[in-house]
Amino acid sequence: MKILIVGGGGREHALAWKCAQSPRAREVFVAPGNAGTALEPKVRNVGIAADDIDALLEFAAREQIGLTLVGPEGPLVAGIVDRFAAAGRPCFGPTQAAARLEGSKAFTKDFLGRHRIPTAGYAAFDRDSFDPAYVRAQRLPVVIKADGLAAGKGVVICETHESAIDAAMHMLDGGFGDAGRTIVVEEFLRGEEVSFIVMAGGESVLPLATSQDHKRRDDGDLGPNTGGMGAYSPAPIVTPELHARIMREVIEPTLNGLRADGNPYLGFLYAGLMIAADGTPNVLEFNCRFGDPEAQPVLMRLQSDLIDLCEAALAGRLDRIDARWDPRAALGVVMAAGGYPDSFRKGDPISGLDAAARLPGKVFHAGTRMDGPDGAPVVTAGGRVLCAVGLGGTVAAAQAQAYDLVHAIHWNLVQYRRDIGYRAIARERI
Ligand code: AMP
Repeated sequence: MKILIVGGGGREHALAWKCAQSPRAREVFVAPGNAGTALEPKVRNVGIAADDIDALLEFAAREQIGLTLVGPEGPLVAGIVDRFAAAGRPCFGPTQAAARLEGSKAFTKDFLGRHRIPTAGYAAFDRDSFDPAYVRAQRLPVVIKADGLAAGKGVVICETHESAIDAAMHMLDGGFGDAGRTIVVEEFLRGEEVSFIVMAGGESVLPLATSQDHKRRDDGDLGPNTGGMGAYSPAPIVTPELHARIMREVIEPTLNGLRADGNPYLGFLYAGLMIAADGTPNVLEFNCRFGDPEAQPVLMRLQSDLIDLCEAALAGRLDRIDARWDPRAALGVVMAAGGYPDSFRKGDPISGLDAAARLPGKVFHAGTRMDGPDGAPVVTAGGRVLCAVGLGGTVAAAQAQAYDLVHAIHWNLVQYRRDIGYRAIARERI
C-alpha cells in the first residue's frame, strides 16, 4: 500500500519513519517533508504544502494512496478529512467539525461544560460583549486566551488586572488576526501539567504510551513558551490510578459527547491536562493531532504496526487491539535555531549528522532542508530543527543516549535544553 503523510515537522518524520517500517507499506510520501524524510529509506518527499488540500487530493488520487495521515492542525481544522472522505480516500484524522476541539477554545469550553468534563471556570467575549469589570473581579493571576489557532502564542497568563485587560483588548483589536476576535477569560489552575494522547475511531479508543513534554525554552522550565523543547515516554506522573481517572473523567466523556453531538472523532486526540492536588484532571486544551515532540519518543517505543492501528481506528475496532510497546523509556531533546521562539536564523549548515547516525538512538528532522540536489548539505530551515531521541532502561539512560546524539551535532547558534526529563529522573531516584 502507498501511504501519504501530510506535514513537514519532526512529528511527520517520526510518522513516516514508523509507517515505512511496516511490511505493508510499499512507499511513504511526505508532503512537503524535510531533509530527514528525504533521506529515509522507502520515503519520498512531495513538493505540496500541507494546507494545499486540492493538490493533496489530486496527488492521492493519482498515486492511488491507500492511507493518508495528517500531522498538523491547520489542514485538519480546514477540513482535509471531509474532503478526502468525500472522494472515498481513507484519511486518518478528525473531521472539520470534530477538529473544532482545537480550532476554537470557546467551543471547547462550552463543550466541556455541557458534558461535565473538569476544566477551569471561564467566560467568553467578543469585541461588543467584552466587560473589563468581569476581568477585574477575577482572582490573580488570570488567563486570557485567543479563541482560534495562534501558533501556541494565544495564551497570556496575567499577574495584574490591567495587563489582563490590555492583553484582552490587544486580541480583540485584531492583534492575533481572526484567532482573537473571540477570547476566553479563564481561571488560573495550579498543579502539574500532563499530556495524554489516544487514538480514537468509531466507538473504540486506544490510549498511547504516556508522555510528557517541556514547553518552556530554558532549563528549569523557565523562559518563553515554545512548541516544545523535548519530551519523554513513559511519564511516571501518570500512575495506573491517574490513567484510569483520565480515561473515565476526560477521554471517554469527550469521545461520547462528540458522538452524541453528531461529531464522532477519528484520529489522534491530545488532551493537555492540569492535575490538581486532589487528582482532578482538568482540561487545559485539546489538540486534534499527535503532539510534537511527544510523537518522536512515543513512536520510538511503538512496536505494533502503525498502519494496522490506523486501519483499526478507521474500522472502529481499536478496542480489539493490544498495542505493543518497547518497555524501555524514550527521551527526545529538541535542537532549535538561535533566537527561537522569536525570530531565528535559517540556512546554517548542520554538521555531525553522519556521526550521529552511527550512534544508538534516532535523530528526527523538523526545520531542515537539503541545500541543493541529493548529497547536498543539510541546513536549518525552521525554529525547531531536530529532535534527538534516545532509548534506555530508565529515563536517565534514555536521556544520556539522547544527549550523546545532541553532542555529535552542531551548527551556528544551536540551542537546546540540558535538562529534558529532569522531573521524571528525580522521580526515578525516589
Ligand atoms: P493552552 O494552549 O490552552 O494549553 O495553554 C498553553 C499553556 O498555558 C499551558 O500548557 C499551560 O502551561 C498554560 N495555561 C493555559 N491555561 C491555563 C490555566 N487555566 N491555568 C494555568 N495555566 C494555564
